[in-house]
Amino acid sequence: MAEFMELEGQDGVRMPWNVVPGTKQEASNCVVPVSAIYTPIKTFPNMPVLPYAPLRCRNCRSVLNPFSIVDFAAKIWICPFCFQRNHFPPHYASISDENLPAELFPQYTTIEYQSPGEASSVPPVFMFVVDTNIIEEEMAFLKSALSQAIGLLPDNSLVGLITFGTLVHVHELGFSTIPKTYVFKGSKDVSKDQLLEQMNFFLIKPKPPTGVIAGARDGLSSESIARFLLPASDCEFSLNSILEELQKDPWPIPTDQRASRCTGTALSVAASLLGACVPGSGARILAFVGGPSTEGPGAIVSKNLSEPIRSHKDLDKDSAPNYHKAVKFYEGLTMQLVHQGHVLDLFACALDQVGVAELKVAVERTGGLVVLAESFGHSVFKDSLRRVFRSEDKELGLSSNGIFEINCSKDIKVQGILGPCASLEKKGPLCSDTIVGQGSTSAWKMCGLDQATSLCLVFDIVKKELPDATLQSSSNQFYFQFLTYYQHSTGEMRLRVTSLSRRWVAGPGSIQDLIAGFDQEAAAVVMARLVSFKMEIEAEFDPIRWLDKALIHICSRFGDYQKDSPSSFSLSPRLSIFPQFMFNLRRSQFVQVFNNSPDETAYFRMILNRENVANSVVMIQPSLVSYTFQSAPEPALLDVAAIAADRILLLDSYFTIVIFHGSTIAQWRKAGYHNQPEHQAFARLLQAPRDDADAIIKERFPVPRLVICDQHGSQARFLLAKLNPSATYNSEGNHPGGDIIFTDDVSFEVFLDHLQRLAVQ
Ligand SMILES: [Zn+2]
Repeated sequence: MAEFMELEGQDGVRMPWNVVPGTKQEASNCVVPVSAIYTPIKTFPNMPVLPYAPLRCRNCRSVLNPFSIVDFAAKIWICPFCFQRNHFPPHYASISDENLPAELFPQYTTIEYQSPGEASSVPPVFMFVVDTNIIEEEMAFLKSALSQAIGLLPDNSLVGLITFGTLVHVHELGFSTIPKTYVFKGSKDVSKDQLLEQMNFFLIKPKPPTGVIAGARDGLSSESIARFLLPASDCEFSLNSILEELQKDPWPIPTDQRASRCTGTALSVAASLLGACVPGSGARILAFVGGPSTEGPGAIVSKNLSEPIRSHKDLDKDSAPNYHKAVKFYEGLTMQLVHQGHVLDLFACALDQVGVAELKVAVERTGGLVVLAESFGHSVFKDSLRRVFRSEDKELGLSSNGIFEINCSKDIKVQGILGPCASLEKKGPLCSDTIVGQGSTSAWKMCGLDQATSLCLVFDIVKKELPDATLQSSSNQFYFQFLTYYQHSTGEMRLRVTSLSRRWVAGPGSIQDLIAGFDQEAAAVVMARLVSFKMEIEAEFDPIRWLDKALIHICSRFGDYQKDSPSSFSLSPRLSIFPQFMFNLRRSQFVQVFNNSPDETAYFRMILNRENVANSVVMIQPSLVSYTFQSAPEPALLDVAAIAADRILLLDSYFTIVIFHGSTIAQWRKAGYHNQPEHQAFARLLQAPRDDADAIIKERFPVPRLVICDQHGSQARFLLAKLNPSATYNSEGNHPGGDIIFTDDVSFEVFLDHLQRLAVQ
């Protein structure tokens, strides 16, 4: 695995197949598709940033890279993608094998170009859209979090404020003495023209473009824009006083009704206002939603409390009356936002569902952030929001206005991307007929992206048959190039170029090569994104059957065994953990959706779809560490047998971190032993998992939930649900840790047993 992580450390790429199956048939036998998880703007401390424009192939537009063949005498380079011969321009005249430009250094397969003189002076824009139909206590939490966030905004950023409940209020921040708002009905969608008219936008005679604000070219004067979007440094006072005055929505709520909440209309007004003011420049809508949308377009449930909010069962039976209508509305909003280049970030904090499942399309395709918590007072929300703006811990590196493009060797096509991006519908010879996610294009918009954003690119090998042996020996490399244009958090435009080469194999004898290049972690993550995607779009899709079939197929193709002899079965170390990943994926929140609400499922999948391989693996198969007096902290098997009375366990399942005290440890802690000077070793034992949990929490966005619990306590379920049920109420014999899991799920041993029997058939 180390070598794959080294490759990731150089290029931000992990591929299930690092030796690529070379023909269409071969690739389909490999089950896990030829694919890559790519982190386009991952930080590399030693990556060169070149202060000049890239050289491009005059035929296919790919960028000069270390895989290009260079003829120094003739001053020519040959493009590895289309074999075009390109002349170097005059300013490369001094090039020689001793005097290479950085982009040809073999180690600089990932490099960045910065456009000289193109540093944008457009400041970042934040439009706060705040739910006011929440109980007083939540309102107080939210106000305090918001005013803290406003204090952390970069001084030059432009800020706007919209509040909503029954109605939508657009706050004019330009007049601090007399607070002024424009009010819109929540029940009806407002078009951009209606919005502009109602807000008297055109009463001021349009001026020719003057300022730096992009909206000026749309005919809006910077004065009119400045009524609603003000530099943070100028409006901190007025914004805070508006927040202070902010009241809970005044409309009475009958006891048998839900609060009236027009989330869809509020977001639509926000999008249109940004579209009028700052089209094409990096702007984010930060939506703070404290309950289900019940009013106007995008409503997920009626106000009548006797009608429950849709569950997975309702969606399955297609009996959620508002679902499709709401999704359709948000798809429209998504198109508008993508067109304008703007991002929707969602902070959903409520005990109820708020409609994350319906809003998913808008958040995901614009590359927005999403945080789901039970309350605006919960650390998951508060600390995550602070992390968006504060850079002293791990910086998110929020960037904007991204466009992602791919070039590859001609025997490879692109099926699509699973991840936070939107198709730019650039069709061409590179596009496969099979479509996965955002497909039928070779260019994608990434309105918002950050250092963690990771795309899953799915490829198609189109070479039909084996080339003859002579050809195979001359060129058995596939090339890939990923191009990301984006606005760096400093404001300047950058182009990140990653060029990759992978050897392909075909025919008899290629199995050992394929195995040697198999990255089982990357494979598990690709399968997790694929199965989630299929569950969302394919009716009647059976995820367990699909995963089992895939796993059996892989084991029977790549395992070592004698036919019909299960006991002879073994897997190379390269594949040996893969069955365990699939076992845990089957049990994970991505597949067992009925244990969660549709909002939670949407949330888990949005995070899976934007994270890198290491983080996604933790979501699929949580990590477990054991702390005892006898030894240093060590990894423990994710099994109920790991529980012991004198042990502390630290479970990291990505969204939740659990510190679990065995019953003896819990007794000692309750007796206060750790406070006694003679029991310092115990105090240290108690503290160690806390420190390790804190270190994880500091690194992660959204901030995970921390659960501290005791064996046999009610919160222990957070740990038990993730453990392999090797001991259940069905199993016999004694259980050393004294814990059993109440489940009918099969244990990993039974699963493996079945797998081996089926694989050798
Ligand atoms: Zn070319």
